[in-house]
Amino acid sequence: MPAKIIDLIQLDTTEEKYRKDISSDKFFGFPAAAVIAAEEKLLAKTPSIAYFSMEYGLAPSIYHTFQTVNPTSKANISSDHEVFSNMQDMDYYHLLPTKKLLDLPIYSGGLGVLAGDSLKSAADANLSLVGLGILWNKGYFKQKFWFRAGGQVPEATSWDPRTYPGLVPLKPRIEIEISGQKLQLKLWKYYVYSYDQKSVVPLVLIDSNVPENPEYFRELTDQLYRSTNGWIKLCQRAILGMGGVKAIEALGYDINKYHLNEGHAALAFVAKPKARFAYTCHTPVEAGHDRFDLQELTATIGQEAAEIVKRFGRDEKNHSQANLTLLAMSVSEHVNAVAQKHGEVTRLQFPRYKEKIESVTNGIHTFTWLSAPIKELLIKYKDRIGDWENDPCLLSNVQNLKDDPAFRRDLWQAHIENKQALAKFLEFWHFDDRAFTICWARRIAPYKRPTLLLEDPNRLIEIARRVGPLQIVIAGKAHPADVPASIHLDNMLEKINMLNGERKLLRIVFLENYDTYFAKKLTIGSDVWLNNPLPPFEASGTSGMKAILNGVLQLSTLDGWVVEAADKNIGRIFGYVPPPGQIGSESDLKLKDDSIELYKNLEEMAELYYSTAGGKVKIEDSPWLEMMINCIAQSGFFNTGRMIGEYRTRIWQV
Ligand SMILES: *Cc1c(COP(=O)(O)O)cnc(C)c1O
Repeated sequence: MPAKIIDLIQLDTTEEKYRKDISSDKFFGFPAAAVIAAEEKLLAKTPSIAYFSMEYGLAPSIYHTFQTVNPTSKANISSDHEVFSNMQDMDYYHLLPTKKLLDLPIYSGGLGVLAGDSLKSAADANLSLVGLGILWNKGYFKQKFWFRAGGQVPEATSWDPRTYPGLVPLKPRIEIEISGQKLQLKLWKYYVYSYDQKSVVPLVLIDSNVPENPEYFRELTDQLYRSTNGWIKLCQRAILGMGGVKAIEALGYDINKYHLNEGHAALAFVAKPKARFAYTCHTPVEAGHDRFDLQELTATIGQEAAEIVKRFGRDEKNHSQANLTLLAMSVSEHVNAVAQKHGEVTRLQFPRYKEKIESVTNGIHTFTWLSAPIKELLIKYKDRIGDWENDPCLLSNVQNLKDDPAFRRDLWQAHIENKQALAKFLEFWHFDDRAFTICWARRIAPYKRPTLLLEDPNRLIEIARRVGPLQIVIAGKAHPADVPASIHLDNMLEKINMLNGERKLLRIVFLENYDTYFAKKLTIGSDVWLNNPLPPFEASGTSGMKAILNGVLQLSTLDGWVVEAADKNIGRIFGYVPPPGQIGSESDLKLKDDSIELYKNLEEMAELYYSTAGGKVKIEDSPWLEMMINCIAQSGFFNTGRMIGEYRTRIWQV
């Protein structure tokens, strides 16, 4: 019996079956030595970081998939995704062929994917770090299209944590006090492996769904961002923050820095007021800041804890409310925004803390989001690029290959392979790998302007007629309680419906239930990635970074990370820019003016694409290829390897 590793994991040994996947050698098919080393470091006096996040997008179906000898529940396999397109007959007869491991359903969008990518890069850097999160028993939600009414119906995600590969229950239990009662919390662990599988960081997930708890407590960790009930929302924050601190203590980890990824976890301070905190703010959107009634807060987390919140996190405008963003900001030694521009905006929004607010621009985990054909290409040219697998920042050297005709041809070929894969995936919808393909996929939030591309469907037909066929892929979920977002979604489906029958010139598909699996397919298989948030409300955005890594061009407004690459010729920038020093209103979406500009730029990009794809311009001289190369070179900066390096030296100082 491999007692050492079982002890170090602190595995709940009452469930025998886990031992089949864990030996002194292997952890669900991966090297066990990494687990042992990471746990020993966290238990010793090594400078270590605790990273708190409400959500984690780990994308195990596309990167480092664990193996298990135990049967996996069918609930953990995702299969039936529908499509809403302008080819209704196809939607009726076909489902997307997506038999794969269900994403660990503990995230909603970019914030979670960033947290997941951060853990991966922390593992790559062999940092001593532990992630804290929540095991969402019913996930975020599963998006089903409702064809007759043309909208989305949210369903609970049913999945089975007990047979999810790599997820293991722990022996230590913790307890926190909620509304005067004891809430029992179970702990789980999931290991995030480095690229070379030599190191890991553990992710500890907290779960209230145990039989010892009354039903209303068991439901607390059902659903991520459930917002219909203020008390539940507050309890979820208490579980993450206060429960997270208790979990660290119960596991015996020695932590010197507490990192709050978003204000959701700010109640950790209440449980550990003497600790050193750092806080990353991820949004300039008002609704992104948690506020709670102080009376309810006191009744829920107790007088003593509430006093601390009142002292450090009282809302400045409404004194009867606690504001978790302010709490996090005032108690943290370091506060950072997630792009340069977002730093400026955050300093305008929180002038009291402006001295403290810095910027660390987001990134993406190179190895998760790199397609196989581009990876092969970059390995082939490794002697000219440098050992980018060891240091993704070296990808900036791809710039030096700009004038190499062989590299250009190889890159174009790799891109075609990626497009062929997408065309195969969407073959029932008549996708053609030679046609110009543009994609918009992300959370459906009003400030991201999901309908901008569909403002004037006739304009799309006109462009296709003049320049060549257009293929448009759309995906994204609207938070079920976000009424404006749902209206946008209904509107999109309606517009797509209006284009029914135009499939020779224009193919538009809206894919159901966007997740990291689709994100990868789309960010590698498009020609152009569309990013059109209303500036300055996109703090960073990361999906475009996945695209540039794979040589996919940007068509973007001037917001978030794109501001830092706007002069690098990575595509086209268009649209409204707020006057300096002003934030403006997130409800004035400027759809009319910006859609006109969008169509103009789209038309020019399609022309440029077809002149290269059609052979009118040679690959050697093609400005399209030049932009593709600029994109990949920029990904030498926009990756979480560089980002974690900055956190390490500037914020965590380890
Ligand atoms: C990368 C990613 C996002 C982030 O999209 P933004 O461009 O930041 O809006 C959202 N959802 C999923 C599933 C992703 O993989």
